[in-house]
Amino acid sequence: MTLVGERISCPLGAWRGEPGKCQLCNQLIGSSRRRTWCSNNCAREWQRNHIWRFARSAAKRRAKYHCQQQGCTAERRDCEVNHISARNGGGYGPGCHHHLSPDQNGVGGLEVLCRAHHAKVTAAQAKARAQARQIVREKLAAEKKTVKKVKPVRPVKKSATKQKLNK
Ligand SMILES: [Zn+2]
Ligand SMILES: [Zn+2]
Ligand SMILES: [Zn+2]
Repeated sequence: MTLVGERISCPLGAWRGEPGKCQLCNQLIGSSRRRTWCSNNCAREWQRNHIWRFARSAAKRRAKYHCQQQGCTAERRDCEVNHISARNGGGYGPGCHHHLSPDQNGVGGLEVLCRAHHAKVTAAQAKARAQARQIVREKLAAEKKTVKKVKPVRPVKKSATKQKLNK
């Protein structure tokens, strides 16, 4: 999806593509110096939720630089930012996958974890992915087997058909 397309469909924004309006809050842009956002507030708000380096520091700030796993005793500032819905090779380019908070279905969002917890969570996510892949592989293998079980249809010999017809 293009960045503009994503701004139109972004659940955090009110903009639906009308020119001359703020691409976050959809207010009419008053200043002739501005094109995309009505204010620095809207520009920053959008950056915080769509540009990785801004989203990452905003998530850390929000968590007060502490690991968010319950009972974790890691030191302040021992923190990294994790995509709750794993990027799964999706990259870190700008987009709605950097939203700070999960959506209404609980999908997405960022969490702050210490290095140890981050490694643990990432490993669990990788394991879940591998398991999902394994299930797909097994399903495909099972499908192949059933295909093999079906007897190939032998082409009917012309002579045999003739003989039948002649009877
Ligand atoms: Zn605005
Ligand atoms: Zn968005
Ligand atoms: Zn931790």
